[in-house]
Amino acid sequence: MSEKSKKLGKIIKAIWIFNWFNSCGFAELVPLVGSRWDMERFGMIVVGNPRHADVLFIAGYQTLKSIKRARLVYEQMAEPRVVLALGCCTITGGMYWDSYNTIKKLSDYIPVNMYIPGCPPRPEAVFEACGKIFQHVKEMD
Ligand code: SF4
Repeated sequence: MSEKSKKLGKIIKAIWIFNWFNSCGFAELVPLVGSRWDMERFGMIVVGNPRHADVLFIAGYQTLKSIKRARLVYEQMAEPRVVLALGCCTITGGMYWDSYNTIKKLSDYIPVNMYIPGCPPRPEAVFEACGKIFQHVKEMD
């Protein structure tokens, strides 16, 4: 590898994201993948396998059944891994807080690094959170 490539390798980074979305949770990321916000140009790449992912985006209300699968996804991710919770339903149960089968506190089931409240969260808030992840990765070098 040339000296220039090594330098570029230190500067250019991408975070690979695995999405775990329930219900309208998927709608929370749609604006980010569209042409207006286009998260890939910032190096935020969605991957299809949790074993390849650095970050877990978790959105939508989580049921007692789905959180078990989310936990399996989390356990397959390599260290260091980051969990980002998007939206009120994910974080606290939101408008489903009194439902018999939704969880009320995500961090009781999965360690959460960042919370982005909203219904749904604004794309700017997601970018700011990802900016902090990039900063964190940079500081780890
Ligand atoms: S926070 Fe809003 S957009 Fe997200 S899952 Fe709940 S109701 Fe849907």
